[in-house]
Amino acid sequence: MPIHFASCSRRRFLGATALLGGGLLPRFGASAAASDAESFAILSDTHIAADPDKVLRETNLCANLKAVVAEVKAMTASPSAVLLNGDAALNEGQVGDYEQLLTQLAPLLGSSAPPLHIGMGNHDDRANFRAVVKPGTPTLIESKHVALVEGRHVNWFLIDTLRVTNKVEGELGEEQHRWLDAALKAHADKPAIVVGHHNPQFLPAPQPDNAESTTVKVTGLVDTEAFITLLEGHRHVKAYVYGHTHTWAHQKRESGLHLINLPPVAYVFQKERPNGWVEVTTTPATASFRLHALDKKHPEEGATIDLPLGRS
Ligand SMILES: [Zn+2]
Repeated sequence: MPIHFASCSRRRFLGATALLGGGLLPRFGASAAASDAESFAILSDTHIAADPDKVLRETNLCANLKAVVAEVKAMTASPSAVLLNGDAALNEGQVGDYEQLLTQLAPLLGSSAPPLHIGMGNHDDRANFRAVVKPGTPTLIESKHVALVEGRHVNWFLIDTLRVTNKVEGELGEEQHRWLDAALKAHADKPAIVVGHHNPQFLPAPQPDNAESTTVKVTGLVDTEAFITLLEGHRHVKAYVYGHTHTWAHQKRESGLHLINLPPVAYVFQKERPNGWVEVTTTPATASFRLHALDKKHPEEGATIDLPLGRS
């Protein structure tokens, strides 16, 4: 998924985590150091336009991102990485959208900032993004932009589900499927969380007698079955984290795999749902996902999903 900033090299990321291991970071309190906790910030669906005053569905897009950036910047435990999980741009991933995105993200950039990984959603355009952002880290496979972020307690596998810009559905694809399978196998010693833009969408079994009536529009991953089978084939994969539907939600499959749907930074489709971002705190025992709603009075503000990281 992601295209990475030059300052986000793996070398630098590992350097930051090594420091945390020493318990020397002044922003970490004694209790955090003792529990060996590590933090991450995850954003999704910012939908930034070139126009900083752009309003869509009664939402000022830049104002929302500005508020989230300020909250991430103010995190008590400085994150080891910040992830923006796709649909960074408004609709078609235009050059001006990404220029404005960089302006809005400026407080999270710079030499002392944690690595920032930006993934591709269906409203992004890889070529335009590359032209503006000039990512420093090459992708690991040709067809997609993927990455592995090695945390202290969890490895994050960042995948790219963009299929066609401004078409709603997404795809893992064969090359990325092979890469993910091999990468998960090669890193089976630590719990894994996979992060991509599109939601899984299981289709009803085809009915040969009445094929037309069972046609369902695919808005999620077109290769959901193969993808989820792949994840469930690796017992150390604890969760798939995605955006796209603009709805904060969580479910656990029978296999034990958690599906975590991120809230959008931008607009919601149902106005009672929260928008905002998610803070993740990992320890040897747990990955805890905490909602930071933009509306601090929202009933789900502070809601937390705890994933056990122990062997299952
Ligand atoms: Zn979106």
